[in-house]
Amino acid sequence: MPRDPRYDILFEPVRIGPVTAKNRFFQVPHCNGMGMSFPTSMAVMRHVKAEGGWAVVCTEETGIHPSSDISPYVEGRLWDDRDIPVFARMNEGIHAHGALAGIELTHTGARDACLYSREVPLAVAHLPVAAGDHPTQARAMDKADIRAYRRWHREAALRARRAGFDLIYVYCRPGTSLNGDFLSRARNQRTDEYGGSLENRLRLTREVLEEAREAVGDSCAIALRFAVDYAARPDGTADMEESHRVVELLAELPDLWDVNIRGWHRDSMPSRFGREGAQEALVSFVKKLTTRPVVGVGRFTSPDSMVSQIRRGILDFIGAARPSIADPFLPRKIEEGRLDDIRECIGCNICVSADFTMVPLRCTQNPTMGEEWRRGWHPERIPPRGSTEPVLVVGAGPAGLECARALGQRGYEVTLAEARRHPGGRVGEESRLPGLAEWGRVRDYRVQQIGKMANLRTYLESRLDAQAVMELGLPRVILATGARWRRDGVGRTHIAPLPGLSSLAVYTPEDVMAGRRPEGPVVIYDDDRYYMGGVLAEKLRLEGLDVTLVTPAADVSAWTHATLEQGWIEQRLSDLGVAIVEKHAIAACEAGGLRLAHVRSGREKLLPCVSLVLVTMRLPDDALYAELASDPRRLEAAGIRSLTRIGDCLAPSTIAAAVYAGHRAAREMDAPMAEEVPFKRELIALEPLNPAAGENPDRYLGSE
Ligand code: ADP
Ligand code: SF4
Repeated sequence: MPRDPRYDILFEPVRIGPVTAKNRFFQVPHCNGMGMSFPTSMAVMRHVKAEGGWAVVCTEETGIHPSSDISPYVEGRLWDDRDIPVFARMNEGIHAHGALAGIELTHTGARDACLYSREVPLAVAHLPVAAGDHPTQARAMDKADIRAYRRWHREAALRARRAGFDLIYVYCRPGTSLNGDFLSRARNQRTDEYGGSLENRLRLTREVLEEAREAVGDSCAIALRFAVDYAARPDGTADMEESHRVVELLAELPDLWDVNIRGWHRDSMPSRFGREGAQEALVSFVKKLTTRPVVGVGRFTSPDSMVSQIRRGILDFIGAARPSIADPFLPRKIEEGRLDDIRECIGCNICVSADFTMVPLRCTQNPTMGEEWRRGWHPERIPPRGSTEPVLVVGAGPAGLECARALGQRGYEVTLAEARRHPGGRVGEESRLPGLAEWGRVRDYRVQQIGKMANLRTYLESRLDAQAVMELGLPRVILATGARWRRDGVGRTHIAPLPGLSSLAVYTPEDVMAGRRPEGPVVIYDDDRYYMGGVLAEKLRLEGLDVTLVTPAADVSAWTHATLEQGWIEQRLSDLGVAIVEKHAIAACEAGGLRLAHVRSGREKLLPCVSLVLVTMRLPDDALYAELASDPRRLEAAGIRSLTRIGDCLAPSTIAAAVYAGHRAAREMDAPMAEEVPFKRELIALEPLNPAAGENPDRYLGSE
C-alpha cells in the first residue's frame, strides 16, 4: 500500500551540519545491556533498526575514559583505539542501510564508582557517587583535570570518526554527565572561571562542543544532548528561564539539539504515569531559539502525533528509544502504509530493566529484541513452515496469541482455542486496572495480525478438555493455558500456607479483577513485589476502601525500581492515602485482623482488617497438560505427535516472558534440535600470555 500523503513530511530529508538524514526518524541513544560485553549482538540489533528505516541510529552512553567507568552496567566504551572495531562493526551495517550512525560520548562524572577501572571518579566538586549508593566519592577536578577531560573528549571524537560515526554527541545532563554537573548551580560551587555565573558554568560544555567541532566537525555533525528542565529552583520546580538562556547562549553551536528532561524515570516515563508526547510542554521552546534541527522523544507510536510535532514546530526529528525497540520497523511500516502492522510500545519499561539487571535488552512487545544475532531472529521475517501438519494452540493469552501469530506467519494451519469470550488472557484483565490500558496493545497487535491470516482460525468461548483435544486430533498441540494466583499465602516469604486464613475474607488478584469487591478495611499482602500489589491497592483505594499495603520487601512494588516505576507507585499510593507497611510478613491471620512480624527483628504488631488480598505467587494452570501427558498411548492413537506447554502454564513469569515463550515455540516448530546452548555466544578473546613476564603459557592455546 502506498503511504498516506499526510505522512510525507516524516520522510523529508533533514540536514544536520555536514551530513543529511534521509528522513525524520531518529533512534536516540538507548542502553541495551549488550554494548561492550556482547558487541555483535549490539551491532546487529542496531543494523535491524537501520533496516527498519530509522535515518539515524545511535549508540548508548559511551564512556570516554577509565575515570568514567560505567560498570557494572553494560554500556558503550571508547577508551582507546582497541575499542574502535566494536563500533566499526556496528556502523558498517548501519551505513549499508543508508542510515547515519551517532555516538553518545560521555564522561559520567560523579555518577559512577569506576568499579572495574578502580580509578578515582572525577567531578565538578567532591561528591558521593550517585549510582548504586557505593561508599565512594568523586574528587573535585582541578584545572589540569579539566584540560585532561577536554583532551579525552576530543580524542574520543577523533576515534569515533575513525570508527565511522557521522554524528558525535556532547552530553549535558546534570547527575549523569560531567558537562551537566558543571552546568548545575546546585552541584557547581566552584569559585574559578568554571563556576558562578551561567556563562562560567556553561564554559565546559561550550569548550567541549567547540573542540569536537574543530576536531571532526568538517565531516561529522555535532549534537548536544540537553536536559531542558535541569535547573531546579529552591522550591523544586524547574527554572526554565535559565534553560532558555542556555539555549540562547549555545543556539547555533551544535549542529543538532537533542532535548529531553531530567531523571530517567521522567524521561522514560512508564505508561502508567504518562502518555505519548508528555515532554512537549517542557521542550517546545528550544526550536524557537535555534535554527538547528531539534530531536526529542515522547514514546511516539502514532504517525499523526509525529506529524503534529513537526507541523506545529515542536521538533524536526521524531526521536525514539522505546518505540524503536518495540518495533524496529516503525518507519518502514508508516512509509509502506502498513499502520496496522505497527507493534506499539506499551510503556512497561521491561527494556529498562535489562540495564539495571545488566543483561541483553528484552521487550514485552518485541520478542526478537536482543536475539537478532545470537538466535538469528528478525523482527519481521521468519522461516517458512517446516511441515504441513496443523497445530492446535490452547489459550489466547500473550503466550498463545504470539505463538499462533508467529506460526501463522510461518504458514502453518493453526487452530487457536480460548475458553473466555475475549482473547488476551491476563493482559485482557490487567489492562483494565488503573493506568494499565496501554498494556492491552500486547493483545491488540496480535489479534489484529491474526485477523488477517486465512490459515488461522480462532474459537472463543471454547474451553477444551483432554477429550476435546483428542477428538480434534491435530498432530501438534501447544498449551498456553496460563496460571492462577495462590490463595494460601505461599510465596517468597512463606513456604507453608498462612495459619488462620479462614478467619478473614480472602481474595486473589483474579477475584478483584473479576469485580469481587472486598469489604474494608482491606490489606493487600504483596510478596510478589512487582506491579500487581501496588496497582490493586490503587484500584481498591480509588473505589473508596480503606487500604493498607503490607510487604516483606523494603519498598512498595520493590522490583519496579528496575522499570523506573517504583517512585511513581509509592507517590501515587501515598497521595491516595493508602497506608504502607514495609518489611513485615504475616505471622498469623486472626478474626478481625493480622498479626504482622518485622522481617528482621520478628517484633509483632496487630493490623485490624476484614479482608485480605494475597499477592504472593501463581501456580500453572496445567491440569489439561497433566491429563494429556499422562497417557502417551492415547495421544498417539488420537494422532497427536507433539504436546508442549509454554508461558505461564509452564512457569509463571512476566508478560514479556510469555510472549517470548510463544515466539520461541513457533520458531522451533519443525526446526532442527537446538544445541545444548541454544544461541550463539560471544566469548572473550584471551590475550596471549607472556612467558618473559613469568606468565605460564596456556596449553589450551597451543602455546605449550
Ligand atoms: P500466558 O501469560 O502464558 O499467555 P494467560 O493466563 O494470560 O497465560 O492466558 C491463558 C489463557 O488460556 C487464558 O485466556 C485462559 O482463559 C485460556 N485457557 C486456559 N485453559 C484453557 C482451556 N482448557 N481451553 C481453552 N482456553 C484455556
Ligand atoms: Fe515498550 Fe515495554 Fe518494549 Fe520497553 S519493553 S520498548 S516499554 S513495550
